Amino acid sequence: MNTKSLKSDGDKGYDGTVEKLFQLTSHIPVPLCFINQSGCLVYANKAWHNFFTVDKESYNKSDQNNFIRLFSQNFAEIEFIEQFFLKCLRSSNNRDQYFLRSSPINFNRHAIIINAVSTAVFGERLWCWIFHDESEKVSLQNRLRESEERFQLAAQSSNDGLWDWHLKTDELYFSPRWLNMLGYSEEDFQNNLSDWLNLVHPVDKKELSKRLQEHLSKKHNRFRHEYRIQDNMGEYRWILIQGMLVLDENKEPHRFAGSQSDITEIKRMERQLIHDSTHDALTDLPNRILFREKINGLMQNCKDNPEATFALVQLNLDQFQLINNGLGHLFGDQVLTIVATRLNSLMTEQDVLARMSGDEFAILLTTAQTPETVGEFVAKLQNILAEPLIVNGQHIVLSAGMGIVIRNEEHTQVAQLLGDVATAMHHAKAMAPGSWILFTEEMRSHAINRIQLETKLRRAIEQKEMQVFFQPIIDYTTGVVKHFEALVRWFDPERGMIQPASFIPLAEETNLIIPLGEFVLRKSCQELMKWYAAGYKDIGISVNLSPKQFQQENLHERISTIIQETGIISGALTLEVTESQIMENPSHAIDVLNKLQALNVNVSVDDFGTGYSSLAYLKKLPINTLKIDRTFVMDLPHDHDDSEITKAIIALAKSLQLNIVAEGVEKKIQAEFLKAEGCTLLQGFWFSKPMPAVKVFDWMRSFSLKEKLAE
Ligand code: C2E
Ligand code: MG
Ligand code: MG
Repeated sequence: MNTKSLKSDGDKGYDGTVEKLFQLTSHIPVPLCFINQSGCLVYANKAWHNFFTVDKESYNKSDQNNFIRLFSQNFAEIEFIEQFFLKCLRSSNNRDQYFLRSSPINFNRHAIIINAVSTAVFGERLWCWIFHDESEKVSLQNRLRESEERFQLAAQSSNDGLWDWHLKTDELYFSPRWLNMLGYSEEDFQNNLSDWLNLVHPVDKKELSKRLQEHLSKKHNRFRHEYRIQDNMGEYRWILIQGMLVLDENKEPHRFAGSQSDITEIKRMERQLIHDSTHDALTDLPNRILFREKINGLMQNCKDNPEATFALVQLNLDQFQLINNGLGHLFGDQVLTIVATRLNSLMTEQDVLARMSGDEFAILLTTAQTPETVGEFVAKLQNILAEPLIVNGQHIVLSAGMGIVIRNEEHTQVAQLLGDVATAMHHAKAMAPGSWILFTEEMRSHAINRIQLETKLRRAIEQKEMQVFFQPIIDYTTGVVKHFEALVRWFDPERGMIQPASFIPLAEETNLIIPLGEFVLRKSCQELMKWYAAGYKDIGISVNLSPKQFQQENLHERISTIIQETGIISGALTLEVTESQIMENPSHAIDVLNKLQALNVNVSVDDFGTGYSSLAYLKKLPINTLKIDRTFVMDLPHDHDDSEITKAIIALAKSLQLNIVAEGVEKKIQAEFLKAEGCTLLQGFWFSKPMPAVKVFDWMRSFSLKEKLAE
């Protein structure tokens, strides 16, 4: 064969049919060439030339041996052409796979895998060699093999159990760790899905199957799910399962594999945390958060059934503060625990009892309720609370103020229901101990008024709408003005002057009394300094102290600061504390009063006679004055009882060597009676109504007891 026979553009040694064949194949995009019996390249198509980027000329010039050598040198990792050619000579059809390089220039870089197919044509005079680039397919196979090996390695070393589901065969592989985790051995499993699903908690089975199916239908990228599975001890363990689909070359899922970890302990901690955040630590009852959630759940049901009813009861123990302060917090805690147990004993499965805060509990009666049924239930609550209680040898009888609300169509928000039941409870608390009351619409408007009033009051204090009025206390034997009592007034731009009875209780409840009280005290001391300056050196000032102020830890320090700031003589200041304030917590009161005495401030017991003080306590109290309450003075001297009480109080004050003042003197006859019984310090409208500071000087100048008596 001469060099001509290697021409790829046609060989004159072949007839026209072969020429046609060459022409036909010239544009086929698959690299192919024709080799003759002598091993010479007879024809190669364009794709072949492109694929091997051969130097046509050097091939055209080569003989049989040259071609094979050239080709092998340039492209073959092994001497594949020679071997392949020899194979061709032995049989007419051959298929082999070799490593080739697609181009001599890319010598090292581009190793490719060739599937060479040879077919004898024209009575084995020519062989058509067709090359397929199999590189991608082989590398895919390799990658798969590698990843399988990696998976095996991971399966052996990981703490997580691994699973691998071959979708075509439906075989499911579980790694030893997967089985171990649940205490199973390989024999326990048949490597199929139903073995696995049979162990899944009945509640979780449906969801797990659904999620697996969804993933298989490629709805989600990553598979991640939590479920419970039974271990070999019969216990259910929480499992986190994660997985991915492995796609084949046609992008079809052929494996579904992943891991699973035991998250039972994490779940337990999670549950504990949720429990702790939704339950009260002392009683283990649901707390306010969980209670709200439960109501919310019922409210959702009510959306479908707007007429559905349920009821809320909120209760606040009466006088728990006294128990807590008087007998100690540990004791208080024991009482609360007992209360929780007692209340709980009346609950049904569906009811919810919660501890809302301190001594406040709430009950959700989930079934339909009428005022009568709730009334009966509440009566039972009161009865069980009232059963005598002995804690650490102390006998206590408990009661509670209870508010009730029955859900109706107008209740659309949980907050609304809770607000209503709290409003009803506050109404009950304002009644006698152990009272209960059903919420009414009027209560809501009352509550709204209160909120509005609170906002206004806050603003009033900030914007200095408060004024201090002064009412004189006279020595009825001499006519000398001894004191002025400071009494606050609110000048509202819309409503004009408002009396303290309308806002002091609210100020007390909202703590606004603290800044208000300090304002009154400071203002009173400043006025006193003006009176001093004007020559009235013997006058004192009396300022009312509210229960909240009285409970303030640093009360004496704050008072001392105001005394220093304003420069008054502390002996000129009297603080009026009500009798009930003292009796609420006598030991605390003694403590506070001692500190005030150390400041040289006087203390007067206001509204005396209304607070049931015991003589034993009175003796111990560091006080200076008793102030007879106006209600006893009002009907003097005609009312027999009031006269007797007044006489007794005066006698008591004398025996305890205390000063005595009577307030509410409106008539001369009252003043005369009091003087005759030995009470000579008098305060009342008969002398003067409370007046603004600017009027005090004029009044002092013009006041004359003689004239008053002559009237
Ligand atoms: P209180 O401390 O017992 O004050 C005496 C009340 O009796 C005053 O009422 C006074 O105006 C009234 N009063 C005095 N003489 C007569 C009289 O002859 N007839 C009648 N009908 N009433 C008389 P006011 O000013 O309305 O104060 C009521 C209560 O409000 C006070 O009772 C006191 O408990 C409280 N309050 C007033 N100002 C303050 C304050 O600045 N701080 C605190 N914490 N409470 C205050
Ligand atoms: Mg007073
Ligand atoms: Mg009073």
